[in-house]
Amino acid sequence: MFGRPNRNLRRAGLRHTPLVTARVGIIGGSLGGLSAACLLRDAGHDVTVFERSSSELEERGAGIGFLKATYRYLDERTAVNPADISVETSHIRYLNRDDSVAHEHEHAYLFSSWNAVYRKMLDAFGTDRYALGHECVDFESNPGSATATFSNGTTFEGDVIVAADGIGSLFRSRLMPDSTPSYAGYVAWRGMVPESQLPGPVTERLGDAITYYVYANSHILIYPIPSVSGSTAPGDRLVNFVWYRNYMEDGDLSNLLTDRNGRQRELSVPPGAVAQHHVDEMKAQAAGRLPALLASVVAATEQPFLQVIYDIEVDRIVFDRVCLLGDAAFAVRPHAAAGTAKAADDAWVLAQAFDQHDTIDGALAAFEPPQVRLGHELLERTRRIGFRSQVENSWTPGDPEFIFGLHRPGE
Ligand SMILES: Cc1cc2nc3c(=O)[nH]c(=O)nc-3n(C[C@H](O)[C@H](O)[C@H](O)COP(=O)(O)OP(=O)(O)OC[C@H]3O[C@@H](n4cnc5c(N)ncnc54)[C@H](O)[C@@H]3O)c2cc1C
Repeated sequence: MFGRPNRNLRRAGLRHTPLVTARVGIIGGSLGGLSAACLLRDAGHDVTVFERSSSELEERGAGIGFLKATYRYLDERTAVNPADISVETSHIRYLNRDDSVAHEHEHAYLFSSWNAVYRKMLDAFGTDRYALGHECVDFESNPGSATATFSNGTTFEGDVIVAADGIGSLFRSRLMPDSTPSYAGYVAWRGMVPESQLPGPVTERLGDAITYYVYANSHILIYPIPSVSGSTAPGDRLVNFVWYRNYMEDGDLSNLLTDRNGRQRELSVPPGAVAQHHVDEMKAQAAGRLPALLASVVAATEQPFLQVIYDIEVDRIVFDRVCLLGDAAFAVRPHAAAGTAKAADDAWVLAQAFDQHDTIDGALAAFEPPQVRLGHELLERTRRIGFRSQVENSWTPGDPEFIFGLHRPGE
């Protein structure tokens, strides 16, 4: 997929003096925040990232479909070859209940892990201006400046704040209190198993494809990703599953989100924390309803975890000198595998707007319309996929609408 053998570090030549120089604070140091940080830094702005976690982030989000926008920075501006941190599959395959193939066609995808991409993006930005242990608890956005206050008592004052603080964004909830997350009606059960812990014939049948099983009001997908240490060699990799299952909002969902220590979670339950009876029920369902090949992966998963699927839709992402990016703006269902790609695309468009305008307000005004439009379109598409799969049961194996992509299926 990548045909550029002599890759050089081209970032040095890209640093330049912008039309206007901004002091930028980025709140949230995940993939969206780091993409914006690298791009704005390269463009000559004075950028600091503030991340609430007290240590560098690890193993969040497990596998990701690795779309072009997500790896664009690494590909165009660093010496990292995205092929080295991802696994390429050649086919999309659907199984029948009895493990036979219902449909397959050639289609190349790259899969990586959140962890592998984060490490490379953090290397690209560096740690000097990456401030860990900075949880933003308050902020102000004014016509000519923005300030953030952190729980450790420090503050940031600058020209612009980029809020990349994810699905539970403090910024979104304060700036648009009506934009509450809307529950999609289902959760994603997820897990990873080292290929080395699965029988050879299982990894052989799963290793070259993304494999789906679609059945009543549910679907599961399985694909290979790099190992925790980053190896992409067959046999070293992980097999990653994402299984969408419906739960009613009242009672049913809150019971699922009560973790094994009795703590009520909101957005996700991390590995090792899901209540044992829910893990047992999920594995029993897998044995009873899924093709044996896929059920064997679910059964072998030691610490499954889950993420609740929410839609978040907004009409504005710029508020004086604060702008929202990635999941802090729109949270879209994962069916297009485009969440990190949208966050990165937001960052590219923001940096381009700064490049093309001689005022900060002009740049922010130019950033907003295309990214609000993209957010609405992507959310609409992923909602439709979710409805067809989890409610309407109209997904037939091989349906082109279900191909991953940021702007449309396949792109
Ligand atoms: C089941 C599932 C599967 C997915 N699969 C894919 C896929 O295949 N491909 C893909 O591209 N995307 C996928 N996604 C989506 C993807 O994970 C998100 O879209 C992406 O992580 C958003 O990046 P972000 O940087 O905007 O936010 P996040 O990754 O959520 O990061 C937000 C950051 O902000 C920090 N933060 C939060 N609050 C504060 C605060 N007050 N102060 C300071 N820091 C703060 C957090 O600690 C975190 O580091 C999937 C999501 C789910 C739920």
